[in-house]
Amino acid sequence: MPARRLLARLRELMASGHVSLPKMVHLVAIEMVTEVCSIYAMRPGDLLELVATEGLKTEAVGHTRLRVGEGIIGIVAATADKLNLPDAQNHPGFVYRPETGEDAYASLLAVPVRRAGRTLGVLAVQNRTVRRYNDDEVEVLETVAMLLAEVLAAMGTRDDAEQNFGGAAVPRQFQATRLAGGIVRGHVVMQSGLPAPTKLLADDPKREMDRLRLAVEDMRKGIDDLISSGLPDALDLDDSPREVLEATRLLAADSGWLRRSAEAVRQGLTAEAAVHRVAGELRDKMRKVVDPYLRERIADLEDLVQRLLVTLSGGAAHGPVAPESILLVRRLGPAQLLDWHARGIAGVVIEDASPSGHAAILARALGLPAVAGARGALDAAEEDDWAIIDGDEGMFFLRPETELQQGYDHAIAARAERLASYAYLRDLPAVSKDGIELKLMINVGLALELNQLSLTGADGVGLFRTEIGMLARGTLENVKQQTATYGRVLDAAGDKPVVFRTLDLGGDKLLPDQRVIEENPAMGWRSLRIGLDRPALLRRQLRALLLAAKGRPLSVMFPMVATLYEFRAARDMLLAEVKKVSPAPASLSIGTMLEIPSLLWQLPALLEEVDFLSVGTNDLLQFFFAADRGAPSLAGRYDLLSVSALDMLEYVCEQADKAGKPVSVCGEAASRPMEALVLVALGYRTLSMPAGSLLPMKSLLAEADIGALRGVLSSLRKGGAFDRSLRDSLVTWACEHGLDL
Ligand code: PEP
Ligand code: MG
Repeated sequence: MPARRLLARLRELMASGHVSLPKMVHLVAIEMVTEVCSIYAMRPGDLLELVATEGLKTEAVGHTRLRVGEGIIGIVAATADKLNLPDAQNHPGFVYRPETGEDAYASLLAVPVRRAGRTLGVLAVQNRTVRRYNDDEVEVLETVAMLLAEVLAAMGTRDDAEQNFGGAAVPRQFQATRLAGGIVRGHVVMQSGLPAPTKLLADDPKREMDRLRLAVEDMRKGIDDLISSGLPDALDLDDSPREVLEATRLLAADSGWLRRSAEAVRQGLTAEAAVHRVAGELRDKMRKVVDPYLRERIADLEDLVQRLLVTLSGGAAHGPVAPESILLVRRLGPAQLLDWHARGIAGVVIEDASPSGHAAILARALGLPAVAGARGALDAAEEDDWAIIDGDEGMFFLRPETELQQGYDHAIAARAERLASYAYLRDLPAVSKDGIELKLMINVGLALELNQLSLTGADGVGLFRTEIGMLARGTLENVKQQTATYGRVLDAAGDKPVVFRTLDLGGDKLLPDQRVIEENPAMGWRSLRIGLDRPALLRRQLRALLLAAKGRPLSVMFPMVATLYEFRAARDMLLAEVKKVSPAPASLSIGTMLEIPSLLWQLPALLEEVDFLSVGTNDLLQFFFAADRGAPSLAGRYDLLSVSALDMLEYVCEQADKAGKPVSVCGEAASRPMEALVLVALGYRTLSMPAGSLLPMKSLLAEADIGALRGVLSSLRKGGAFDRSLRDSLVTWACEHGLDL
C-alpha cells in the first residue's frame, strides 16, 4: 500500500535526525506521484509563506506570501478545512502568483497543518491534469500534514511569530456569555485541544493495534467507574450529571470513530497518532455544525479522546491544580468537567459552549464561575497567565492591569464579606423595613440544587423547571424515571412547597431530536402547545408528578398559556390523571404562568379557575415589548421599570388580590434589586429567584421602606416620567436612601 510505504520512508527520514522540509516535499511528490508538493508555514501577521516546494519555482520559496483567507492556500488556513479541486484556477478564490509558475497545474489538493487546535500551515499537492484526488490520497496527505505539524512546531513557526509580536504580555479583555455566575481570579491552566502524540509512526502495527484495543476497553471501564462512583459528593442528590455521563458512554460505544482509528494504525501510525488524527478530523467536521446539541457532542468526543490518550500514554494520573486555577478550553465534556473539578479548578472559560449545554448545567450545579465565547482568548493566553473570570457580567480578563486586578480583589473580598454577613438572615423571615412580610423562593432546574433550600433558608421552590434535567440528559424521561426525579425533589424539599412547572421545551430549549423548522421558535410550537398537541407526553409527566407526590401536597403550574381554554384543557388532563392515581395528593394546587400578553385580557375569568398565578417576566416582557429576551442589543428596550410594564404588572396584582388568588413573580426580574423593590411596591408578596440572589435580596428588602417607594413611584408615574428617567429616578432614590442595589 503506497500510504504505508510513504509513511515508512518518512519514518526513516525522521529517525535519521536529518528531517528537512525540502526532503519531505520531495518524498511526498514521489510517493504520491504528484508534480508539485508545497509547504506554506504561518508567519507573523497571519501570513502564509511558501517554505518548501517540489515542482514550483524554487525562487518563490521565502518570497511567496498569502494572507490567511487569500487564495486557495489562504482559504484552507482560514477554514481549517481541505480543498480538493480538479481545476483550481477556476475556483473563485484562486490567486495567481507568477513567481511560482503554478499556472501549469490544474488540480490541487491542500490540507491544513494543525496542532493542538492551531493552524501552523498548509500542505498542498498539484498535478497538470484535471483530476479529483481520491479518498486514499486525501487520507495520506492528511497523515503527512500531521507529521509535518510536529516538524513545524519543533522549528517554531507560529509560536515564535506571536512572541516576536510581543502579543503575549499585553492585557486583553474578552466579552463572553455567562454560563455560571461568580467571580474568580487565578492562574490560567490550558487544555488547548489534545496533547500532541510524541511518537507518530509505529514500528510494529500489530502491537499498536493491541494497545489501541486495550486502551479502548480501559476508557469504557473508566467511564463506567465515573458513572457509578466517581461523582463528587455534592452531586449525590440528583442523577442528571450521571445521565449526562450515560450519554458519553453511548458515544464511547460508537464504533465508527474507533474503527477509523484502527484503520489509521494499519496504515502505520502509532495508536496515539491514529486516535489523534481521527479525532482531529471529526472535530474539524463538527466544528462547522451549527446545531448546539451536535456541537456539545464534540466536547463529549474530546472527553473520550483525552481519556484514550491518557491511557495510551501510560495513564499518567492527573494531579491537583494550583488553588484558584482558571481552566481555558475550546470545548469541555461533562466527564472532563467533573475531572477538572476534582483536580480543583476554580473557574472555567469554554470557548465553544452554550448556556444550555451539558458543561454549563454542570458548572452551575457545581458552583463554578463559568463563561463561554471569549473568542480569541485561547490563542492569546499562555499557561500560567494571570486572569479573572467575571461570570456575573460575562467578562474574561487576561493579564489584567494592576488597577483592574485591585478592583476585582476588592470586589471579591467585599462579596465574600457580604455573603458571610448575610448568613444570619437565613433563618429570619423576609420583611421590609416598614414591616411588609414577603415570601422568597428559589428557581431550580436540577434536584441537586435543592440543598440551596436550607443554605438560603428559602420559603420553597417557586419554580422547578422540569425540562432542565431532561435537557441535561439529552432525552425525554419515561414515567418511572420522572417519578423518581420528582420524588427525590419532594423528599429533599421536606415541608417546603415546590411548584413544578410542566415541560417548557422548544424555543431555545431543544432536545437532540427536536429540530427547529420555524422562523421564530420563541413564538413557535413550544411548551404547553406541544403538551396539548401531544397529550401522551403531558399526561406521562402529570402522572409521574402525582405518583411522586405519594399522597403529599402537590403544586403544578403550566407554562406559556395563551388562553383560558388552554389552561382548562391542561387542568382537565391533570384532573383526569388524579382519578387514576392512588393515593391522591393531600392537596392539589393548579396554577399557570403568565407569560403571554393575550392572557391579560382573560384575567378575571382565569383567576376564578386557577389556584395561583406566577408571572414569568422573562417571556412576558419579551412578548409585551416585542423584544427578543436573548438579544443583548435589545436589553435596554426590555425594561420592567417603564410606565406601560408597571401599569400591566400592577393590574395583574390587583386582579389577583381581588380574586383572592396568590400571585408571584418567577422571572429574572424578581432577582434584580431595583425591579424587585418595585414589584413589592406594586403589591407582589412572593418572589422566586435563582438561589444566589436570595439572601442579598432579603437583606435589601430589610433596609427598604416600601411605603415610601410606593409614594415616589406614584408621583413619578403621575408626573409622566419617561421610561428612561423613571429608572434613573428610582435608582437615585434608592441610593439616596442608603440602599445597596
Ligand atoms: C419566564 O419566562 O419568566 C420564566 C420564568 O420562564 P423561563 O425563563 O424558563 O422561560
Ligand atoms: Mg418562560
